[in-house]
Amino acid sequence: MTSIGLNNNSLQNDSQNEMQKRDVPFFRYTALIKQNEADVRARMEDVLARGAFILQKDLVEFEKNLAQFLGIKHVIGVANGTDALIIALKAAGIREGDEVILPSHTFIATAAAVKMCGGVPVLVDCRNDHLVDPAAMAKAVTAKTKFLMPVQLNGRTANMDQIQEIAHKHKLEIIEDSAQALGSKFKNKPAGGFGKAGMISFYPAKVLGCFGDGGAITTNDDEMAHQMMLLREHGRDPKTGIVVAWGLNSRLDNLHAAVLDAQLKHYPEVMKRRRSIATMYQAGLSSLKEVLLPPAPGSEADHYDIFQNYEVEFEKRDELKAHLASRGVGTLIQWGGKGVHQFKELGFNMSLPVTERVMAKSIMLPINMFVSDEDVQFVIECIRKFYSK
Ligand SMILES: *Cc1c(COP(=O)(O)O)cnc(C)c1O
Repeated sequence: MTSIGLNNNSLQNDSQNEMQKRDVPFFRYTALIKQNEADVRARMEDVLARGAFILQKDLVEFEKNLAQFLGIKHVIGVANGTDALIIALKAAGIREGDEVILPSHTFIATAAAVKMCGGVPVLVDCRNDHLVDPAAMAKAVTAKTKFLMPVQLNGRTANMDQIQEIAHKHKLEIIEDSAQALGSKFKNKPAGGFGKAGMISFYPAKVLGCFGDGGAITTNDDEMAHQMMLLREHGRDPKTGIVVAWGLNSRLDNLHAAVLDAQLKHYPEVMKRRRSIATMYQAGLSSLKEVLLPPAPGSEADHYDIFQNYEVEFEKRDELKAHLASRGVGTLIQWGGKGVHQFKELGFNMSLPVTERVMAKSIMLPINMFVSDEDVQFVIECIRKFYSK
């Protein structure tokens, strides 16, 4: 009899818990096709019917439309964002042993691209907004430094005035890792448009995602554009088809380009929605002393952030993450909780205190087109309850 009573109790508890549960995954991969589904399917059907798979008009149109959207002269579709960085560095003339300064708070791909080109990634610390610290970049310059590689992290563009000043002073080139920053601006100028070249990733969970890997390189420099066109397509001159240089095969699939072109038309709504979710998180969480939020949308005149991620520093991060998971809320720790310099297996032996703090405390909260206002309010409520205990 006692055991039945216990069972009843636990059932009741369960059903109470049920009421406090809500399915808010960090990202809903199965919903990607639901975004502008009719448009996207029509474009795919059309490409398939034409058998137009490699370097066809959909790619050319998408490159043109994206260039126009960004206000950057050239956009070149490539196989993924990592290739975009490698191609940009090679086109900009990176040589064996060249030092490239970049933040440790980035995807391993940024540093790996440098390494794969024979360069030396020099890692520096970030600021409280999680973006690269220009003062740390300036301090890291040596006689071997050739490039600065700011990362426009989480959909926010770094202070490019300061970074351009360092580049100018030491005669360095800037290659931007703007993988996360499509449509983000600093002083009204687009991420990806500040240096010799920038890039974008179309990985499915990125702000503009395709159904697989994809990427693009951006540049305002005609000669860079020409060199990068050669590098992405076996060194073939796009006009004559004749091989004039060494190159790779790193083309953006025409099918992906067609899908991305359909999604790009709705992209302004995506930026708006992400900023409005960030505003909701800001309103719901800013009074908690245990959290450090990213700058609120519109709070700084120089920055237009598009919130690829909403990365927040929390006290008792791991307990909070588990608490949110128990309520059905998915979160993610960026880069698995390690800055590039914390991958000891890669031979780094240094300390970057702000990056290490950020890595130990941060969680990314759900922010995308599949998250409703009610979802956001639920996440806020769960976090507030956790700290009120
Ligand atoms: C996603 C990402 C990349 C790499 O893009 P892929 O398309 O996955 O190769 C590079 N840097 C940053 C900061 C990224 O977020």
